[in-house]
Amino acid sequence: MAHEVTLIPGDGTGPELVHATRRVLEATEVALQWDEQHAGVDVYAAEGTPFPDRTLDSVRRTKVAIKGPTTTPVSSGFRSVNVLLRKELDLYACIRPCKAYEGVRTRYPETDIVIVRENTEDLYAGIEFEQGTAENADLRRFLASAGQPVREDAGISIKPISIFGSERIVEAAFKYASENGRRKVTAVHKANIMKFSDGLFLRVAREVAARHPEIEFEDRIVDNLCNQLVSRPEEYDVLVLPNLYGDIVSDLGAGMIGGLGLAGGANIGADAAVFEATHGSAPKYKGQNKVNPTALMLSGALMLTHLGEHQAADRLQRAIAKVIRKGEKVTYDLKPTRDDPTAVGTSQFADAVIEEMIRP
Ligand code: NAD
Repeated sequence: MAHEVTLIPGDGTGPELVHATRRVLEATEVALQWDEQHAGVDVYAAEGTPFPDRTLDSVRRTKVAIKGPTTTPVSSGFRSVNVLLRKELDLYACIRPCKAYEGVRTRYPETDIVIVRENTEDLYAGIEFEQGTAENADLRRFLASAGQPVREDAGISIKPISIFGSERIVEAAFKYASENGRRKVTAVHKANIMKFSDGLFLRVAREVAARHPEIEFEDRIVDNLCNQLVSRPEEYDVLVLPNLYGDIVSDLGAGMIGGLGLAGGANIGADAAVFEATHGSAPKYKGQNKVNPTALMLSGALMLTHLGEHQAADRLQRAIAKVIRKGEKVTYDLKPTRDDPTAVGTSQFADAVIEEMIRP
């Protein structure tokens, strides 16, 4: 039976990238039935909402979506489609593999890490008290009465980290490790300073690790981890992090493997999963058949794995790796110089990947 998948083209360069990715996914010959639904600035211009209910309903029904990037204009009233999706579907785990492919210029060719970032808690929970407001004053009064005075001119953001949130993200990291033949999980924190939030995360991580003795476990303080990642990347495998550190280390990982065009990802919840690239809609290249579809194609490979289509996922990843290794039919960002006239477009990159899958 075909897997039904919600296909969200997004906006900016999203539709070109999604089209290229759809073609390579179909070339794997896995039976996929697409339910195309829209989100982003184009549907906003037409319908007054960036995220129509029918798009959300479709993902709730199919439980799996692949999504092109969507622009979030810097103007009031426009809510980020990604934040909405994450909240509505409780997509608590963001999984971002960062593997350096042969043929890409990077100073860290040994990099092959997977970042598992908690998506719902921490300083990104949005619990904020603006400086100068009555709520801020109330909170400061409470803090002073608890022996924790805060300066009158301070803005305050709250960092909640729960046992529930920590347990499910660390479990997700171990699940990913065991399903993907990974040997080690490293929990990343700053528990030496934030004993009751990061300290709780670390304690729960150790408890979860004890339930998975077949996989090695260790922990690292986040600043030390950043240092070690760029000096000994080969020592790291799966990293599990609270929201803020996960966000920062994800970009570090994307930089280590040669850029945003190569970093795929998945947002996974208990009832649904949304697969998308780490990068945004790169609107200045819209309609130019120029940008690199690798990140979205690798997100597509993660989707195939999620659907249990492991062989097809492997075939797709190997074909992408081969096209990049050969370095001929690749987009401008993978060429030695950005204005290399031999660079191919988004669509021709997809042709090359399909060619490798058919005639490896
Ligand atoms: P961006 O990632 O869209 O682009 C920044 C630059 O990175 C581009 O100008 C380009 O040089 C390069 N780049 C990005 N993707 C590339 C690719 N596939 N191939 C080659 N080069 C690529 O970041 P931005 O300009 O900060 O954001 C544009 C819009 O995208 C914003 O509105 C932002 O909110 C949104 N955004 C969406 C998502 C998402 O939908 N998941 C993620 C991040 C940003």
